Amino acid sequence: MNISVIGAGYVGLVTGTCLAEIGHHVICLDANREKVDMLKNGHSPIYEPGLERLLQKNAGSGHLSFTTDYQVACDKAEVIIIAVGTPSRPDGSADLSALQDVAEKIGSHIRKNGTIVVTKSTVPVGTNRKVKSWLEAHSSPARRFMIASNPEFLREGSAIHDTFNGDRIVIGTEDDDTARKLEEMVAPFEVPILHTSIESAEMIKYSSNAFLATKISFINEIANLCEKLGANVEDVAKGMGMDNRIGPSFLQAGIGYGGSCFPKDTNALVQIAGEIEHEFDLLEAVIHVNAKQQVKLVQKAKEVVKDLKGKRAGMLGLSFKPNTDDIREAASLEMIKQLLEEGAEVTVYDPVARENAKSILGSKVTFADNCFDAIEDQDMLFIATEWEEFKVLRLKTISRLMKTPIVFDGRNCFSLEEAKSTTIDYYSIGRPPVLHSTLKTPHSK
Ligand code: NAD
Repeated sequence: MNISVIGAGYVGLVTGTCLAEIGHHVICLDANREKVDMLKNGHSPIYEPGLERLLQKNAGSGHLSFTTDYQVACDKAEVIIIAVGTPSRPDGSADLSALQDVAEKIGSHIRKNGTIVVTKSTVPVGTNRKVKSWLEAHSSPARRFMIASNPEFLREGSAIHDTFNGDRIVIGTEDDDTARKLEEMVAPFEVPILHTSIESAEMIKYSSNAFLATKISFINEIANLCEKLGANVEDVAKGMGMDNRIGPSFLQAGIGYGGSCFPKDTNALVQIAGEIEHEFDLLEAVIHVNAKQQVKLVQKAKEVVKDLKGKRAGMLGLSFKPNTDDIREAASLEMIKQLLEEGAEVTVYDPVARENAKSILGSKVTFADNCFDAIEDQDMLFIATEWEEFKVLRLKTISRLMKTPIVFDGRNCFSLEEAKSTTIDYYSIGRPPVLHSTLKTPHSK
């Protein structure tokens, strides 16, 4: 099949590359010429494990190419997949301007009937209908388009794996022919397919993300209770997760969710509900809990160290989760903001998110070249992302390098047993602190 993907970001580039890998001829279009030039030279503009190798392979075999030219992308395409960003507006609603721009351009460039235009971007219910009207408004009156909603569920950091091993592919269409054609397109992935109406497909995406965000905020609130009641949230989560009705995933307590999806999509769903005069109290609480959780360890540091002014704070991890360079809405950024406001001197290290972070933080923080430089001589250390590289560090090494061995671990990277075997004052999430300056916690195992 000839397929074009518009928007070569985390979703579009992975989708296009994987569709090429299963035998389709794919053209990826992006408005960003620099990005397209990089791709033409075989380099991925984003960090995603396995992506660069796969895109080089498929570009080499002639199955995958890149362009900024809509005519090139529209001429042969049987299916056009839109995967541009739908970021939050200041009021939380989804900004659909890039999507509208793309739909209008597709409308004015398509020369044949029956092209299927698929929206993969996460969009509010009713948006696909708008896409159809934008397409039609910019094409000749005789032109016929088929539209479909095909929300994306991949996770950054394991996006290629997720595309080939997803739990489901949701295809929302107006007619059976379009559904069948799209089913054929994705059949080689061998992932279960759910056919729905367009509105239900749009709603499935928001509901799924809102539910996962709810699970995270729920376990984080339980973690906060555990800290006060002397329980260990890891044991609690394990016990909960053994119940099939609950399941073990998304029960890791930490400093909250971030990234380009959960914060944006939860806010958008609250907005969507508001527009139909429904107060989504549950989701509003989820968002509120997450905002508090992201800066929880800085608050803890203020209680412990009292005055942070002039104190040296190291931070390990900037990306919102491991195996990605994405720092959008990352807890690290909120923590850094507060630490700087308190007058701390912050040194940060991340294995791949450094360049993205530099464009936001500039010279406000010191960027260390390796994790040891971010630990050495610090008055306190924060762990914001659970990169494997940090988890294999030993707390004894950290203790030896630091000026004052106080660690605030936002991702529970180390066991309490290990913390007890060092001289570190170790604060984590939902587990009793291990204190050496004031001596051991009564509840530690
Ligand atoms: P992204 O910002 O990484 O990529 C978007 C790309 O679109 C960029 O390369 C940008 O240059 C390009 N673009 C913007 N406007 C354009 C235009 N007018 N014409 C052509 N190209 C244009 O975004 P993303 O993370 O890939 O997300 C895309 C959509 O998928 C969003 O709606 C998001 O909510 C959804 N989604 C993202 C993820 C994820 O993990 N990132 C997962 C599921 C769904």
